[in-house]
Amino acid sequence: MTDNTTLGLDPTLLEIIVCPQCHGALEPRAASVFAGEQGVDGELACQGECGLVYPVRDAIPVLLIDEAKK
Ligand SMILES: [Zn+2]
Repeated sequence: MTDNTTLGLDPTLLEIIVCPQCHGALEPRAASVFAGEQGVDGELACQGECGLVYPVRDAIPVLLIDEAKK
């Protein structure tokens, strides 16, 4: 089951992972930037200075700068 708070991700994992670009905190949310992309359950929005948004595909955060969007 997926909810909009954790996207089905482990809360402990969410506390550990940070933005690979600026090391800011990541906030899980329902997909908006990645809406409609296949396999995307939600996204992680950087709360730091870079403002990048990372996709969560099949409940796995994809923390790759190449995959991120503004
Ligand atoms: Zn960042």
